[in-house]
Amino acid sequence: MKLVDSHCHVNSSQFEEDREEVFKRASEELEFIVNIGNDLPSSEDTIKYSEKYPFVYGVVGVHPTDISTYNDEVEKRLEELAHHEKAVAIGEIGLDYYWMEDEKEVQKEGFRRQMRLAEKVNLPVVIHSRDAMEDTLTILNEFPNVKGVFHCYPGSFESAMNVPSGYVFGVGGVLTFKNARKTVEFIEKIDLSRVVIETDSPYLTPVPFRGKRNEPIYVKYVAEKIAEIKNIPVEEVIKVTTENAKRIYNIK
Ligand SMILES: [Zn+2]
Repeated sequence: MKLVDSHCHVNSSQFEEDREEVFKRASEELEFIVNIGNDLPSSEDTIKYSEKYPFVYGVVGVHPTDISTYNDEVEKRLEELAHHEKAVAIGEIGLDYYWMEDEKEVQKEGFRRQMRLAEKVNLPVVIHSRDAMEDTLTILNEFPNVKGVFHCYPGSFESAMNVPSGYVFGVGGVLTFKNARKTVEFIEKIDLSRVVIETDSPYLTPVPFRGKRNEPIYVKYVAEKIAEIKNIPVEEVIKVTTENAKRIYNIK
């Protein structure tokens, strides 16, 4: 069994020059990758790539920092895209009080509407939450039937226990950073059955490539770090996290 990149943005303009090669390397080294939209155009793109490449799956939605683009028409089109056979979740959606492009209330409304959409089309969600843990948890708990991935999980192990049990936690390059004490502690304590590995490419590149562009095959550095922290064979990390990603995204 191979690793999975459960969260990347190969549709980003930073891959304009060599996207085909990035996909090719990913297809050789990984089981599959999940490409994530952040607005309607990138969600359309992610479905296009999933049609072109068997190992690419798509997630469609509007990111909290792009939520001003969300309206009835966008929602209608997202719903159509969500019915595509390669669409595996609604995302990434949530709250971002760090960049705060839009007011909290506007963000919360867009988040709730997309949680409702996920419930309607019966797909899991991919959650983005920055400096907004309390409000994120409030909204997640309003939708007990929805499951998903808490992407780039920013909290402690203790706060993770307040996340509904249907969610798994996305862990990426941050874990390899020198100042990652909170995330290292989180990995020490959390059961591996609730962890999926991600890159968030082109962002958050793990050591030893920190500062350069990230790409899906770098999930291996995150897997190695988890194995080291948990003191288990890397093969076990690969097997369990890949099974977790298949289960949560319902990929056979
Ligand atoms: Zn992302």
